[in-house]
Amino acid sequence: MSIKTKRITINGIVQGVGFRPFIYRIANDLGVKGTVLNSSIGVIIEANLDDENLEKFIELIKEKKPANSEITSIKIEDIEYKDFNDFRIIESSKNDITTVSIPVDLGICKDCINDIFDTENPRFLYPFTNCTNCGPRFSIIEKLPYDRKYTTMRKFKMCKRCKNEYENPLDRRFHAQPNACPVCGPYIWVKTSTNKIIEKEPFDYITQKIISGEVVLIKGLGGFHIACDAFNEKAVLELREIKRRDFKPFAIMIDEVEKLSKWIIITEEEKKLFYSQKSPIVMFRKKNINYFKYVAPLIDSVGIMMPYTPLHQILFKKLKERNFSNPLVMTSGNFKDEPIIKDNEEAIKSFKNFDILLHNRDIKNRIDDSVLFLDNKKNIRFIRRARGFVPEFIKINSNYNDFIFAAGGDIKNTFAFYRKGEVLLSQHIGDLEIKENRDFFISSYNNIKRLFSFKPEIAIIDMHPNYYSSNITKSFEFKKVYSVQHHISHIFSVMAENNIKDNVIGIAFDGTGYGNDGNVWGGEFFVVKNKNVKRIAHFEYIPLPGGDIVTKETWRTFLSFLLPEIDFAIDFLKKKIEKEKIEIVLNMIKQKINSPLSSSLGRIFDAVSVIVTGDIISEFEASGPMKIEALAYKTPESYEFEIEKNEEIYIIKSNSLRKEIINDYKNNKKELISSKFHNAIVKLIRDLGTKLVKEYEANGICLSGGVFQNRYLLNSILNEFEKSKIKIYFNQKVPANDGGISLGQIYYFLTIM
Ligand code: ZN
Ligand code: ZN
Ligand code: FE
Repeated sequence: MSIKTKRITINGIVQGVGFRPFIYRIANDLGVKGTVLNSSIGVIIEANLDDENLEKFIELIKEKKPANSEITSIKIEDIEYKDFNDFRIIESSKNDITTVSIPVDLGICKDCINDIFDTENPRFLYPFTNCTNCGPRFSIIEKLPYDRKYTTMRKFKMCKRCKNEYENPLDRRFHAQPNACPVCGPYIWVKTSTNKIIEKEPFDYITQKIISGEVVLIKGLGGFHIACDAFNEKAVLELREIKRRDFKPFAIMIDEVEKLSKWIIITEEEKKLFYSQKSPIVMFRKKNINYFKYVAPLIDSVGIMMPYTPLHQILFKKLKERNFSNPLVMTSGNFKDEPIIKDNEEAIKSFKNFDILLHNRDIKNRIDDSVLFLDNKKNIRFIRRARGFVPEFIKINSNYNDFIFAAGGDIKNTFAFYRKGEVLLSQHIGDLEIKENRDFFISSYNNIKRLFSFKPEIAIIDMHPNYYSSNITKSFEFKKVYSVQHHISHIFSVMAENNIKDNVIGIAFDGTGYGNDGNVWGGEFFVVKNKNVKRIAHFEYIPLPGGDIVTKETWRTFLSFLLPEIDFAIDFLKKKIEKEKIEIVLNMIKQKINSPLSSSLGRIFDAVSVIVTGDIISEFEASGPMKIEALAYKTPESYEFEIEKNEEIYIIKSNSLRKEIINDYKNNKKELISSKFHNAIVKLIRDLGTKLVKEYEANGICLSGGVFQNRYLLNSILNEFEKSKIKIYFNQKVPANDGGISLGQIYYFLTIM
């Protein structure tokens, strides 16, 4: 058989995951001669192969590929014959076609855990241990190709042993770009609250502080965490004061989640996710909502992650040595909703009187911990998509050739770039109301654009006239900027994930978004048919007296929602709020002063939460709805929305629901109100959804929007449709909240515009 020189180009997640040494090994096993290199168009192999060997070679690549790699395409070409003496890994070449991926930051692998806890190992207790199967990637990368000299590890010169590992194709650390050891790599120290530097046994110092109930700062992989003993009430309350967060849930870290089984329900699938190298914050169900009442008050889940870096592993080991086995609070190191702090100087400046565990491996791209939960069908549902997932591309069905940028929304912002057939969603940026987050938006935009050589000339923004995301994007000087309605973007994010192009009913239940008619939308039914999107049903409009402020002062929405039952409403509120205030707000409603109309289900949730919880102020975004979600229990009982057809559109009304809620309130049945309210929404989706599917001969229902992060609701809907012929689709790859709309904006442009 004749031997030819072949060029094999492999695309996907193939850099920073031990791909080249893997190729080297199988080439040697097969006696194949040639070269392999990393380039910005993927991994390129040039090798002399006959047909039989080629087939075997490709088969082995597909079958045995490294655990964290992913192959999206393998291209094989004949090239001019070259003479090779052996098989070699050669230097990365610079190439400028852009189909390459950057690996995500991965939690420590089992082998590296063994290394750091092996007293004989040179990396015993070394907090920056990593290998080709684990460690920092995106967070340290400055530009492509992914080589040490283009990462923040550049400043550390590898010692002889590290260099040998790095250069030995058979070593686990072959071309592990962040490879380091205690001799040559980054190190940690503590800056104490009194500005002393502790370089000797910094772990001992910091663990002692944690155990004694102090709040400390710890620099991690994608930014700083604020940490304390999660079971120390005083410490957690102090942390709340620092973060200016009275009730917002904090994530906790524990080495073995099983240790918490007394308080939380742990399923096999959740456990697997928890220990996975993506190591997200997994929202575990509490066995009783009063558990973790300082860490995650009044809600029914608590977010837990594992010590995903060697640094965190050692921290927990040191705590254990002191017979301390409590979980730690590990919440983003920032004030309120600002971006997570990533630089040493900034941390020292912002947290002056704190003990801070620092290190000198710089973070280039800040990235928060991802947060997700599993629904009762074991599907992943993102709340925040960041570390471990960004910058993985999301495949979408499109042949469109040009780049596109999408700005996303203003709350829970993520933005996105499109390149042929795939979308890159940014890490969670946050609330653009805050100046620091807008700066983060701009810097992250520039970083990602440069990293991947994206050159978009088209941008998509939300239709809202005053969104920061839109205005910043306009200042970037794109050739063309298009806008898409907020909730249509939500629906299209689900369609994008599920490769649906047309003929579907969309249900967007959400907080707020700017509607085509200038009103505040958020409880919408659409039909997508013949490349046309039409709004076909929505909740009855209610005024929001004061506009945006109602998301904080939820009693205003309560008052507005209960206008037909005004005596009850006033009676309810007058114990909690001055009569004059109530009157002013009522007047605003009556005279239509600064009272935009809203069809948002999120706002109705707010109103109902006021009745159920008695809280007239929202402590953080959606805190009321989260609290009533926690109270809902399984029952066949339900309220009912009325559906009326008004010209071409169905209006969903709450007249009987209001009356019955008041009745149940008078009988002091708060949990029942909550359950029946949730069930009414499920019923609405089932009944009106089914009706609309038939009416429009649609192929299924796509559901999105922040309301679907409600687990009770989501699970009930999944159960309800389990035996139905109607297919339902939710977000699985991006959050159902506004963190997912940048994907929808792009997909809308590609399918409709
Ligand atoms: Zn490793
Ligand atoms: Zn070294
Ligand atoms: Fe939204």
